[in-house]
Amino acid sequence: MALEHFQTTWDKILTNIKNNVGESVFKVWFSHFQPKNYSQGVLKIEVPSKFVKDWLEKKFEQVILKTIKEFIPEIKSIELVVSNKPGLEIDYQKTIIKRFSSINQQRLTIFEINPQTNLNPRYRFDNFVVGQGNELAFAACQAVAKNYGKLHNPLFVYGPVGVGKTHLLQATGNEALKLHKNIKLKYLTTEEFTNEFIQSLKNHTTEEFRAKFRDIDILILDDVHFLSGKTTSQEELFHTFNYLFNLSKQIIFSSDRPPKLIPDIEARLRSRFEGGLVIDINPPDYETRMAILKLKSQEKGVVFDDKIYDLIAQRITKNTRELEGALSLIIFHHNQGEKITLEKVEELLKKFSKDFYRKISPKKIVKVIAEHYEIKDEDVFKKTRTKHLVRARQFLIYFLREISQLSYTSIGEFLKKDHTTIIYSYEKIVKELKKNPLLNQELEVLKSKIMEV
Ligand code: ADP
Ligand code: MG
Repeated sequence: MALEHFQTTWDKILTNIKNNVGESVFKVWFSHFQPKNYSQGVLKIEVPSKFVKDWLEKKFEQVILKTIKEFIPEIKSIELVVSNKPGLEIDYQKTIIKRFSSINQQRLTIFEINPQTNLNPRYRFDNFVVGQGNELAFAACQAVAKNYGKLHNPLFVYGPVGVGKTHLLQATGNEALKLHKNIKLKYLTTEEFTNEFIQSLKNHTTEEFRAKFRDIDILILDDVHFLSGKTTSQEELFHTFNYLFNLSKQIIFSSDRPPKLIPDIEARLRSRFEGGLVIDINPPDYETRMAILKLKSQEKGVVFDDKIYDLIAQRITKNTRELEGALSLIIFHHNQGEKITLEKVEELLKKFSKDFYRKISPKKIVKVIAEHYEIKDEDVFKKTRTKHLVRARQFLIYFLREISQLSYTSIGEFLKKDHTTIIYSYEKIVKELKKNPLLNQELEVLKSKIMEV
């Protein structure tokens, strides 16, 4: 039987698959799905990338085979092969981008981090849900954005991980810039501050470093507990602080605990932290959690029944980042055409059981990535710079940061690499993600593999 024979039935086969899997799933996974070669009962089908191949094999192999057999009973098995036509992958990505943007505008909103201020425009007051745990902090931040340098200086916001400190601090920055057009503002994590400072010591550029952090109207320093035990950086921050404070410039800090409880901090710096307004954020109550879930799913263009939100809000109580993570996972499955029932949500939430982030060891992440790239676990630690390995390592770094929440420094230690390399790799993936929804899908799949318990 010649290949041409298939061409005539192929459209019917595709229509059938489409009816089976649903329109939007079909559009995403079955474009460029073409018969390539037939021999002795085996049909080879061309697909645009390895990622699509893996996904189709995992999810739809049975549907595909069953449908094809209905039309062409001679076929015993199918084999998916990745196309080697140059440009197809790119082309494919473009179609996906177009389709996604018509299916779901929100998903594609690109948030450019402002290189001058380091602020991400995604974090705003108007998309921050105010509730019992955070209303005081919210009010204080609003006041500071209006009257920076005058009212609460410094502003010190603390609370456990995932309750919205970064969101609130960045929103304050974004609002201040909106209200006072020409001010100079910098947002950065304390880890970045420390790294830049150490780099400047190495390069003999501390003068430039100082100048940069003193020519500022608002300095926002996130996660200042990171300074614990780092004497030289503490000293540097102490001087920066005094300089700015004496000129009535605003300083805003966040931390995972109150100043009193940060270990190994010089007393004089601690007393600076305590010198303005110290305010805490607590985990969201039930109503706030419901409101956050609704807001976030609206942002992604999806609406579920209240029962679904209720179940998530009942199960995940402490950490808004986790709440968002669970919701994203559910939305991802929804977008794959799965029906989101309470049972399905229960199943997915198992992955979000208590302390799940900590249960996922870096080793597990290495294993999943190595499997995906068909390499050995230990290969990721090698110095080899083949394209394949470099890519695998970038993904690994991305997940170590996003899932295990490791600092750049610890990732560097884990992989025996300089932390600047780690930062570079991480940021490369983040940048690509903004432009390429297919990569987004790929990472979601990897992520769900990593989360499998
Ligand atoms: P933290 O810095 O305290 O660890 P983040 O600010 O990174 O937490 O918040 C984690 C995620 O939860 C972010 O995506 C943030 O937008 C979201 N988030 C937290 N609190 C709220 C809130 N009250 N309203 C809307 N989104 C929130
Ligand atoms: Mg944070």
